[in-house]
Amino acid sequence: MLSRLRLTLRNGLIRRSFDREASCGTFRGALVVAMLAAAGCGPRGHVVPAGPAGPDAPAASEAPGGHGAPPSTYDPREAFAPLTLPDPVNAYRAGDGTPGPAYWQNRADYVIHASLDPDTDRLAGSEVITYTNNSPQPLESLWVQLDQNIYRRDARARFVRSGPRQPFSGPEATDGDVLESVQIEQRGRLARADYLLSDTRMQIRLREPLAPRGGRLRILIRYHFTVPGEFGGRTGHIATRNGEIFAVAQWYPRMAVYDDLRGWDTLPYLGTEFYLEYGDFDYFVTVPSDMLVAGSGALQNPQEVLTALERRRLEQARASDATVMIRSAAEISDPLSRPVRGGTLTWHFRIREARDASFAASRAFIWDAARIDLPGGKRSLAMSFYPVESAGAGAWGRATEYLKDAAEHFSRRWGVAYPYPAAVAVAGSVGGMEYPAIVFDDYRDTGKNLFWLTAHEIGHTWFPMIVGFDERRDQWMDEGFNTFIDVYESEDFEHGIYGPKRDPEYAPGGGNPVEEILPLLEDPAAPVMLTRADQVRDRYRHPLTYFKPALGLVLLREQILGPERFDWAFRKFIRDWSYRHPTPSDFFRAMASAGGEDLSWFWRGWYFHNWTLDLAVEGVRPVAGDWRHGAVVTIANLDRLVMPATVQIDFRDGRSERIRLPVETWIQQQSVDLTLASTQPVAKVTVDPDAALPDKDRSNNVLVVAPAPAP
Ligand SMILES: [Zn+2]
Repeated sequence: MLSRLRLTLRNGLIRRSFDREASCGTFRGALVVAMLAAAGCGPRGHVVPAGPAGPDAPAASEAPGGHGAPPSTYDPREAFAPLTLPDPVNAYRAGDGTPGPAYWQNRADYVIHASLDPDTDRLAGSEVITYTNNSPQPLESLWVQLDQNIYRRDARARFVRSGPRQPFSGPEATDGDVLESVQIEQRGRLARADYLLSDTRMQIRLREPLAPRGGRLRILIRYHFTVPGEFGGRTGHIATRNGEIFAVAQWYPRMAVYDDLRGWDTLPYLGTEFYLEYGDFDYFVTVPSDMLVAGSGALQNPQEVLTALERRRLEQARASDATVMIRSAAEISDPLSRPVRGGTLTWHFRIREARDASFAASRAFIWDAARIDLPGGKRSLAMSFYPVESAGAGAWGRATEYLKDAAEHFSRRWGVAYPYPAAVAVAGSVGGMEYPAIVFDDYRDTGKNLFWLTAHEIGHTWFPMIVGFDERRDQWMDEGFNTFIDVYESEDFEHGIYGPKRDPEYAPGGGNPVEEILPLLEDPAAPVMLTRADQVRDRYRHPLTYFKPALGLVLLREQILGPERFDWAFRKFIRDWSYRHPTPSDFFRAMASAGGEDLSWFWRGWYFHNWTLDLAVEGVRPVAGDWRHGAVVTIANLDRLVMPATVQIDFRDGRSERIRLPVETWIQQQSVDLTLASTQPVAKVTVDPDAALPDKDRSNNVLVVAPAPAP
């Protein structure tokens, strides 16, 4: 849009106008100014000497949008139109963004016995799912997710992306989940289930409907699958010097969510993440006795699977801020580091109010731990499991410190404490993936990248493990919200030694985030945040689902609501939706209601669209032609996004003044005249002087008024 720029004096107002034909240095009138950089006419801030306004200069500025005004695509009627959110308010979801009086949620509790054979990569399991229907509807069928089927040759996921380097489209495959038996126990009667398979889903058709409001049944499934290799993405195994590391996830058939929004939410697993019910997990993992197992939740039988020395060291770690070695590198090959020789051992873990559980197993693990201090005197335990390749203070030797610090800071800052008995980081083939109380990260990560990754993955405890977003549809919520809280963790850890957060997820160029977001906003092919996650191509995944929503929350916190209002409302949202399933609409309503602001304009511009912002200093002139009577500054909004903004006026005598423009500045008009009760000549006017807004053209943000030349 911006082509040639012409600065003209019109009716005593120094103003900027656009002219495709004008050549550089086309000026009219005596009082002319600055900002030629945008027109390619000279360096930024280039100043053209200006004469004083004559005593006969008219006092009134031009009406906004009048002749000579720059083209503005801004339309207040569009930006401030009433906004209809995707999900309605009803008895289940209230107008203030909280769960409504009739909110309900179904529940799935799991007891799982699995054995892993590292020689064949085969996992065999049997599980009992206790499913509770709290909905007001009787259920005639149930839907179960079989995520391992994404690795089958005929998986739908293979057709979503093309190219050998795309996930789930390479030559490797497995047979997926092989079901040996599926049974239903209903009203005390156990019977073979009537089921059908469809890609990564299974529908079980019930002989009699499951009663509403508390009806309960049990599903018994025996199954096995081959754990994928590195191609598994979020799960897999990899060889290291002292043995393979298995990072095992999506390892048991689990309930799809039945909710008030869609009934059964049966989106297939195409590669985006998960939407899962809450429940308790009691699970048993049998492996060769020389393997260590790290799992979600609390280990229930340490006396059976650990040595006396390891148990003593663990007790020490529970009381220690410094990291305590549970099994050192030197002990890995020492048979005495295991309680028995030969055969297998069964590790028993339990985690409550979780939406998932995962585990890792290896002979190659170094294991260390330290206490996590939580508000109210509560405690948890940070633990890291990694191979010798990853050891050392520049790498995984500090992972437990990162876990501990992040869990402590997130708990304090955001009002809901880390809820699980342990926070575990596992080094392996998975390049960064979160599960309740356990995260899988790349064993090659080091330094600040490992810090950022560890803080990010354990930050997912709050989103989506505590606040149970539907990641499969709205990936921008869990990734964006988590990336947002990570921005502050990067400032908090050791007074910011790894800060500010600048990584592939947030301002990857290392610069100012509001500038680095611009290519995404200006890319006509880019999707918007309220897009089904499966539609977001990989090139947009980090910019759109991590960076933009995180920056949106930074803008909401620091530019729109202010930290005092934002933090209170955001903590309330986390609390209100802990272990529940909020939608984007719930979040939008919650922040507007508790934050005390109609934010429709921001949701529309930033979340529903990729609108861009272009604020400009349009002109400045003395009141009645004399600076001693004050000054009139004209600020214009040239593009579709609106934001509150700061305007700084620097006077010739060195003083300066700041004016905060509320967003209502733009509710009726494209440009605004600000009359200053000043007495000094104005030297410079700047809009957004701190570069805090995603202004796409900063060259028109400054207007320099040159002093009058000597007569
Ligand atoms: Zn993430």
